Amino acid sequence: ALDNLYVALENVAPDLRHRVAAFTPAQGHVCDGLQLRIDDLDAGGTRTLSLSVIKVDAQRLMAVLSDVTDAVRREQELRRHEALLSSITSGVTDYAMMTLDHRGRIRQWNPSIGKLTGFSAEDLQGAGFDHFLVDGPLDQARLDARLREALVDGWHLDEGWRRRSDGTRFWGSSLLAPLDEHPDIPDHERIYSFIVRDISEQREANETFRHAVLCDHLTGLANRRAFHEAAEREFRRWQRDPRALSLVVVDADHFKQINDRHGHLAGDAVLRHLAAGLRACFRGTDLVARIGGEEFVALLPGTDADGAVAVATRLCTCIAGQTVDVDGASIRYTVSAGVAAMEPDIASVRELFRRADAALYFAKSTGRNRV
Ligand code: GH3
Ligand code: MG
Ligand code: MG
Repeated sequence: ALDNLYVALENVAPDLRHRVAAFTPAQGHVCDGLQLRIDDLDAGGTRTLSLSVIKVDAQRLMAVLSDVTDAVRREQELRRHEALLSSITSGVTDYAMMTLDHRGRIRQWNPSIGKLTGFSAEDLQGAGFDHFLVDGPLDQARLDARLREALVDGWHLDEGWRRRSDGTRFWGSSLLAPLDEHPDIPDHERIYSFIVRDISEQREANETFRHAVLCDHLTGLANRRAFHEAAEREFRRWQRDPRALSLVVVDADHFKQINDRHGHLAGDAVLRHLAAGLRACFRGTDLVARIGGEEFVALLPGTDADGAVAVATRLCTCIAGQTVDVDGASIRYTVSAGVAAMEPDIASVRELFRRADAALYFAKSTGRNRV
């Protein structure tokens, strides 16, 4: 129903008639890609039309009207992304961005680098991207290896302590990525981007959360949940690659009597004493956890049944030879332990645990203070 363009476009291009009248050359573009926003009654939004008017001769005009709604929307999106990127590169203070040459030397950086690390332009000029590592610089071979890894995988991410110019440190994450992965670029022309972030707060929050969820409050040992997660991991590892793996279950003897005689707080002190004894007896790679009131476990990767019995026996002897001094009382106590080692017919962590628990029951029923 479009019989007069000027009338049809009166609302959105009121001066179109005037523009054409004012166009004096014999032919040419009166307007080119003029953007008109119209209400889209069907969709309830607006659409963007692009109008070009060409004067063909004194009597004739040609008008091209096209719907460019999607293209305009895409362009706006693009501008938003550009604005976002530029705010990251200049506004956000916990990012330091750099470009690196093919050998990992810093070429350019954003202003945030000073705020984040304290290093100045003179410090950074010609420095390698290992400049921020607290453990000292890497040799060129290791720098090259990292760059190669980033090139092959598309990126390389690592976390660790980073240093500031004043000697203080922060927990940082570093992302290394080639700016162009095209295989035809000669190696000496490759450029990498390198982004360092201060994630200390994030890490602290994670650690606090992990601590709350996986730690036993009384003793500071791993709790039941942490133990089960770790045990499942070790069990799966054993299934892939069977090697010695054993489990020790430790239970305080006649613990109820200690509570009854000396009070619950004294009982707690004994539990903390036992936890310290466990920490001292087992290795750092063993997982020691408190899984119940006065019941503890230790999972020993790389230790067979004989080895586990030996450590557990040492623990029993050690505990039996000590006293816990609480509120003027000297408390002596003993522990019993059960040991089980992984074997091919054990199909789950639960089964391994059941065997160790049966051994513990046997130790209890045959006199206590024994393995
Ligand atoms: P057994 O030699 O057969 O193991 O005897 P037991 O008395 O040690 O075992 P029992 O299971 O009868 O008693 C365990 C006691 O441990 C009962 C419970 O009140 C106490 N207990 C559990 N958790 C805690 C704790 O966190 N603190 C203290 N002080 N006592 C606890
Ligand atoms: Mg007990
Ligand atoms: Mg018990």
